[in-house]
Amino acid sequence: MIISKKQGMLIVLSGPSGCGKGTVIREFLKKNPNTWLSVSCTSRAKREGDIEGVSYFFLEKEEFEQKIKEGAFLEYAEYAGNYYGTPKAPIKEKLDQGIDVLLEIEIQGALKIKELLPETVFIFIMPPSMKELKKRLEGRNTESKEKIDKRFQRAYLEINEVSKYNYVIVNDEVDIAAQKMSAILTAERLRVDRIEEVFLDTVEEDIHEELIAKKFFDNSKIIDKI
Ligand code: ADP
Ligand code: 5GP
Repeated sequence: MIISKKQGMLIVLSGPSGCGKGTVIREFLKKNPNTWLSVSCTSRAKREGDIEGVSYFFLEKEEFEQKIKEGAFLEYAEYAGNYYGTPKAPIKEKLDQGIDVLLEIEIQGALKIKELLPETVFIFIMPPSMKELKKRLEGRNTESKEKIDKRFQRAYLEINEVSKYNYVIVNDEVDIAAQKMSAILTAERLRVDRIEEVFLDTVEEDIHEELIAKKFFDNSKIIDKI
């Protein structure tokens, strides 16, 4: 039997804009409803389909800066001319309740989390190719051509940072990428340093305790007890 630690696991997922992070996460959450996706604050304008409190908490630049002063963010960064930040309070609350927390954030923020909480699991999502990335960014149809170009250029810099992460997933097919994400997190939950206690059930546990206490290695006596 294994008893996991009470504290939830923090997971950071990054990747270039348009590579499919949001799409893979939605698929992942369908099969992993116990993981909580953090909702960030941003000063960027709402896009079509964005929902307040679900996609983001949308703030004016000044409101965002006020929250920075108040120390409300676990991390924040500027990306493509706007602020993005992870609210601190709900993360701590969920982790303390033993709930795993997923942050979908860009690389500067991910590196800040790495300094603050190095036991975090860092996953990088890659597009299958730069050509496909451009196609996805354009196909999403949510930004102007100028903004798409800016995000695309930045993608080259971001892909260079993949070595700072623990895992990489190429998002070729959404369901396979989501399955890989589940596999990573299943393995991470089984890491010995994330486990509170491992014990044998019933009689075997008594024998185990006896062995440790008395350094008693007579196999025949043990076998008689089972
Ligand atoms: P991100 O969150 O990384 O910015 P999105 O999840 O918004 O990216 O995906 C960008 C676009 O690419 C969307 O139109 C989405 O439907 C599409 N997309 C995502 N994953 C795939 C995939 N594996 N194959 C084809 N299209 C995809
Ligand atoms: P978008 O404008 O496409 O929604 O997001 C732009 C980038 O900001 C994405 O790479 C996304 O992962 C990142 N992002 C979203 N929320 C946060 C956050 O709270 N902190 C940081 N550092 N980046 C974030």
